[in-house]
Amino acid sequence: MSNIPVKDVTPPPAKQPQSMYEKRKKIYVREVEGLFQKIRTYSLWGLMLAYFGTAWLNWGDRQAVFFDLPARQFHIFGMTFWPQDFPLLAGILIICAYGLFTITNMAGRIWCGYTCPQSAWSFIFMWIEERAEGTRNQRIKLDKEKMSATKFRKKAIKHIAWLAVAFWTGVTFVGYFTPIRELIPDMLSFGMNSWGVFWMLFFTAATYINAGWMREQVCIYMCPYARFQSVMYDRDTLAVSYDENRGEPRMHRSKKKLAEMEAKNEKPGDCVDCSLCVQVCPTGIDIRDGLQYQCIGCALCIDACDSVMEKLDLPKGLIRYTTENELEGQKTHFFRPRLVGYAGILVLMIGGLIYSIVTRTPFELDIERSRGALYTVTANDTVKNSYYLKLMNMSQTAETYVLKVEGLDGATTNAPSEYELEVNDLEEVALTLELDPAEHPLATSKTTIEFVVTRKSSGEEVAREESRFIAPRQ
Ligand code: SF4
Ligand code: SF4
Repeated sequence: MSNIPVKDVTPPPAKQPQSMYEKRKKIYVREVEGLFQKIRTYSLWGLMLAYFGTAWLNWGDRQAVFFDLPARQFHIFGMTFWPQDFPLLAGILIICAYGLFTITNMAGRIWCGYTCPQSAWSFIFMWIEERAEGTRNQRIKLDKEKMSATKFRKKAIKHIAWLAVAFWTGVTFVGYFTPIRELIPDMLSFGMNSWGVFWMLFFTAATYINAGWMREQVCIYMCPYARFQSVMYDRDTLAVSYDENRGEPRMHRSKKKLAEMEAKNEKPGDCVDCSLCVQVCPTGIDIRDGLQYQCIGCALCIDACDSVMEKLDLPKGLIRYTTENELEGQKTHFFRPRLVGYAGILVLMIGGLIYSIVTRTPFELDIERSRGALYTVTANDTVKNSYYLKLMNMSQTAETYVLKVEGLDGATTNAPSEYELEVNDLEEVALTLELDPAEHPLATSKTTIEFVVTRKSSGEEVAREESRFIAPRQ
């Protein structure tokens, strides 16, 4: 009797589901000194000073930069902008975007490394962290330790200082929308309005989380610029790069290894694999792996590597600002068509914007025809048209303006011809034009007319708007 063949059909153990989520590795950034760190320090502290200080600057009798939302006026260093100036704002935004394209094509992500608010606030938060918890190695050690009174004290100091900076950032932000000199007493007496409190807390929380906790995550995952910046790069774009030809083969300089290489008639590269360039990187990447979208172009790895080269008595610049062409031994073309095109358009746009601001008339005239009848014929056979006018003095001085109508000889009106307007005054006028067609015949039933406003003091024309005078067909 033979056994029946048995086949094992036990299902193999189910595969563990693969997680698509990579846990964040905390980055312990090492402080570094050098030329680029110095430039960065000046630019980022300068930016912070501008943000926190400008809110306290006065221009004339009001805050130099003040966005008065209820009055729909935006005061910027003596100039007042109105919602009607929205095209100017759109122009400024387009110029900023174009400026960013130009600068990226020229020198990579220097905006991110030296001027971006996320970099500026992260920089100050890291500076606080280093003072409260110590150097990189001390911080790593501290995080591994169990909670103790010392650890608690250090962490508490750091978070209190972070919250203080974040809170002042929120207060300053609201101070650009509510006069900051009134805001502080209101805040201290708990008299702030609820919107003010909301935005202050919102910006406090956003600053604390973004600069304290998320840091490089904002640059890597949230900032859209990181994703599309590569489109603006070309082979002549200056970028922080590692010179592979010079650095490889990387190796620690041990006598044994050097002897081994010599025996093989090989020469070591200049990179001693000290990993200092990785330790100083705020986004935790290794620039030796090539150009990466996570690189914010802060150049701290240049400073770190230069300090190593100096100690080894090797030429600096193993990591440096350079171009793809240069790294491959080819010529870098600074004046290339793409960059010249970007820069040319940028200059034209800036010129256009300056021209529009300088020639901007600080007066607004709005005209609407009456929504009722197109015209009325009176008992005396005269024809009347009604209009609704808005005259707004957007200049910085009180003025008397003269209003007249052109293109309708013989017409009379019920409205005064002169208007005294204080600064930012708005005058609404219900105006009627009346004409006797028997005495002043009209060539057509729809006559084009113009409302013209001049400054009484100088006679300068400040507004001219077209409208229609409608009469029955003859
Ligand atoms: S700092 Fe310079 S020498 Fe050190 S690992 Fe980086 S590239 Fe190599
Ligand atoms: S690799 Fe890191 S340290 Fe070097 S420039 Fe890029 S972000 Fe800065």
